[in-house]
Amino acid sequence: NLNGKTALVTGSTSGIGLGIARVLAKAGAQLILNGFGDSESAREEIAQLGKKPGYHDADLRDVLQIEAMMRYAESQFGGVDILVNNAGIQYVAPVDAFPVEKWNDIIAINLSSVFHTSRLALPAMREKNWGRIINIASVHGLVASKEKSAYVAAKHGVVGFTKSLALETARTGITANTICPGWVLTPLVQQQIDKRIAEGVPPEQARDLLLAEKQPSGEFVTPEQLGELALFLCSDSAVNVRGAAWNMDGGWVAQ
Ligand code: NAD
Repeated sequence: NLNGKTALVTGSTSGIGLGIARVLAKAGAQLILNGFGDSESAREEIAQLGKKPGYHDADLRDVLQIEAMMRYAESQFGGVDILVNNAGIQYVAPVDAFPVEKWNDIIAINLSSVFHTSRLALPAMREKNWGRIINIASVHGLVASKEKSAYVAAKHGVVGFTKSLALETARTGITANTICPGWVLTPLVQQQIDKRIAEGVPPEQARDLLLAEKQPSGEFVTPEQLGELALFLCSDSAVNVRGAAWNMDGGWVAQ
């Protein structure tokens, strides 16, 4: 039961972040949402589960905006008890053709923002001696795929950062862990399916081929399943899960 806990989920206007926000809200947490696009319908959806969520539109590429978001969390909700670093972007190109600005954005959003939100959330967590930092990396935090160098570098970075953070907080009530999803059908993955269709793969086969390449289950992982794993990591039973990189990937990294 997460009554009395405040959860900030970055990138929670769609996809996995919204799925995790839904599960945490159902468990009683006060949510703070963040992200671009249609924030209005995400906010309504979460409000219908009980508590009106907070929202901050920080662009996570910008440290000053992250600092403003964390000040907002502090002043409006008394700090963040559960921090879910979920926002992320993808870009697919070989290293020698990888646009420098895409590299910089991916490192800033997928990796550096995790450092910034964590360092800013920690003081209040230490004061309460309770906290959960859950970072959404990817199977690409554990293994690589070609043409995803920035993403793979950032996600491996998140796994490493989280281990270090878990050691620093090992004797406290604060835990830090990474969740490593395989393919989940969200706008981020739909883009990659669309790219294959544009390259000539028949639309009805594009999804199945994408799954068949990497994910032995042949099925997408769902945002709700990832939300349930995050909820477990928030529980008291999970207090000794520290610095883990927990894959939920239909068998992807077992190969
Ligand atoms: P998505 O595109 O549906 O959602 C991404 C979210 O991040 C959105 O809310 C978006 O507004 C937000 N966002 C993007 N740039 C931002 C910025 N600069 N500042 C603030 N918010 C920003 O993607 P998703 O598939 O739900 O991905 C969520 C996370 O899960 C990402 O970190 C992604 O790398 C990871 N992931 C996804 C998959 C998958 O198969 N979909 C697999 C493994 C890991």
